[in-house]
Amino acid sequence: SKVRIYTLAKELGLDNQKMLDVLNDLGVNYKSASSTIDDDIVELIRAMVAEEQAPKQPTKKEDAAKAEDDGGIPLRAPVVTIMGHVDHGKTSLLDYIRKTKVAAKEAGGITQHVGAFEAKTSRGKIVFIDTPGHEAFTSIRARGAKVADIAIIVVAADDSIMPQTREAVAHAKAANIPLIVAINKMDLPGADPQKVKNDLMALGLVPEEFGGQTITAEISAKTGAGVEELLEYISLIAELEEFRADPNGEFKGVVVEAKVDKQAGVLTNIMVQEGQLNVSDFLVVGENYGKVKAMVDSYGERIKKAGPSTPVQILGFSEVPQSGEMVVSAKNEHEAREIVAKRVSERREAEEAASTRRKFSLNDVFGALEGETREVNLILRADTQGSLEAIQGILARKKTDDLNINVMLAGIGAPSESDVLLASTASATILCFNVTAAPPVKKAGEQKGVDVKTFRIIYELIDEVDRLLKGEVEPVY
Ligand code: GDP
Repeated sequence: SKVRIYTLAKELGLDNQKMLDVLNDLGVNYKSASSTIDDDIVELIRAMVAEEQAPKQPTKKEDAAKAEDDGGIPLRAPVVTIMGHVDHGKTSLLDYIRKTKVAAKEAGGITQHVGAFEAKTSRGKIVFIDTPGHEAFTSIRARGAKVADIAIIVVAADDSIMPQTREAVAHAKAANIPLIVAINKMDLPGADPQKVKNDLMALGLVPEEFGGQTITAEISAKTGAGVEELLEYISLIAELEEFRADPNGEFKGVVVEAKVDKQAGVLTNIMVQEGQLNVSDFLVVGENYGKVKAMVDSYGERIKKAGPSTPVQILGFSEVPQSGEMVVSAKNEHEAREIVAKRVSERREAEEAASTRRKFSLNDVFGALEGETREVNLILRADTQGSLEAIQGILARKKTDDLNINVMLAGIGAPSESDVLLASTASATILCFNVTAAPPVKKAGEQKGVDVKTFRIIYELIDEVDRLLKGEVEPVY
């Protein structure tokens, strides 16, 4: 018999994330907290947890580590992203929160668009990424950076789960961040929250009232009903997850977005993640550096310093950085130049090494992994729901203990550029049935090293999956 991950987590009194961490440590493959795991692994985990919980004398070292864990490093505000299907109310929800929860510092004060804004709630500050949608979220993730801690998936109560809802959920799961489903438009007569909750189950999201772990909140972005509770759920998750950052540590930030202003020059919106960002600091981003000439916060006020979870806009780079690039600071201009020079030479070396590697096939890699679980990550795109279900049905029957076919996203219609980004963050292959990628999507695939293949016959697509599992597919460069 098999046990669901969240059921086991509940039984052992662990939160889901902790349970997933344990599984990761053990090298167990799973799709989400609602995936099932085998009996022997369940036993192993029960034994491990029992051992952990057995009373023991903490060593000095553990004590010190613990003190550093909680006492030393303060909590920081959670950073939230809002995703979901078009027209389901993402922008309206952001607008409502901005209107009601952002206290402009002076009467008539205007807020500045710095990529995110701070909402003040009764349970503390919550930072919202200003650009809704999973495209923005994934373009940041595609560079390996993580900017959001929690995702809100907005679903219109009169429309339920739609293709982009599935995409948004896939993106949040791939990022391994907790999500809350906001069932919106509850003020409409056609609102059917029960249907939304039922439909969520098909995505592996089991609402709490059905015994699962998925938090849902019924809201109206128009009237504001339920938004207060939604904010409370966010704070609750933040308290459970304990997002922390050291304001005195080394500065680390991520570029949320950047643009050129005709008068001011390059304006870069940065989320401070750790440490402190100060005016006059030297910063390095990618292979460029700059000095912070001026900095404003989301209230449009000029500030001199900013700590963790603070969104700011800075002036100081000469080139426009890409969203998702990490920003670090240097002691002085000399050190900034050195970091850039090192990055340039490392990139050149990596490029040379990559051209050597291409001479080997994936077979060599898989040969070395003989006996281990083989896993393929897939994004499936098909012309109809029927063909999609047929393909998934066949793939599901192929799964065995050491063959893991992980369908990250299954959707109707041609693949998008955001599918390519999702695939590139998870080394997934995009397989299409009776739909073809548009030229820009093909190009994005080539640039990111993501295979995008189209099939007209279901069994040819399945054969391709078999080849991927065997490691027989030659990488396309
Ligand atoms: P987005 O594409 O997800 O950003 O959706 P928008 O926020 O632009 O909303 C799409 C449409 O739905 C707009 O006409 C909104 O006025 C409307 N809308 C959004 N939230 C609600 C709601 O809670 N109730 C009602 N009745 N309409 C809403």
